[in-house]
Amino acid sequence: MNGYRQVIVDGSPIGLRGLDEVFEALHTAGRKPGDAGLGAEIVARVRQEKNYIPASAQELFAAAFEREYAAYLARLESGETTRQRGYGMWRGYPRETIPWFPTVNEDLCNGCGICLKMCSTHCLAPTENGKVWVADPFACVIGCSSCANVCKPKAITFPPRSMLDAYKLKL
Ligand code: SF4
Ligand code: SF4
Repeated sequence: MNGYRQVIVDGSPIGLRGLDEVFEALHTAGRKPGDAGLGAEIVARVRQEKNYIPASAQELFAAAFEREYAAYLARLESGETTRQRGYGMWRGYPRETIPWFPTVNEDLCNGCGICLKMCSTHCLAPTENGKVWVADPFACVIGCSSCANVCKPKAITFPPRSMLDAYKLKL
């Protein structure tokens, strides 16, 4: 059975079936990040896995998929597992259902790298153009906002902490 995982599309977590299997097939076919039409091709393949992608958001999904595919290949090259790992539970809720993770405003980021030095979770990662992006959102520790606190240009933001109050402890 194909796997299920969440991807951040335009700042929101979206659950999708079969994405890792699509990436495996693209890798086998020798597709590289930046290939012409790659994002649209991934969108088409992900739809074939019976995922709903609204036509109006197609380009946002394509951009998110291209980033995810680049991260997938990077993990493959480094010898890390290419399957999305489980993120465990928080207060009895699957981590992937809780939208607590940083958002980086690339226009404000100056590429200083302080946030990368202070976080060991690999939630944040450098981009090719010397900035920072949220490579593994659900690796972020819920309730932590340390990277935002050290970011001088205020490029990193989080949802309001009160959002976490909705997750009552499940016994
Ligand atoms: S600390 Fe802020 S400005 Fe520096 S790399 Fe991180 S996000 Fe960019
Ligand atoms: S909030 Fe904490 S755990 Fe999450 S990315 Fe920033 S420093 Fe890392």
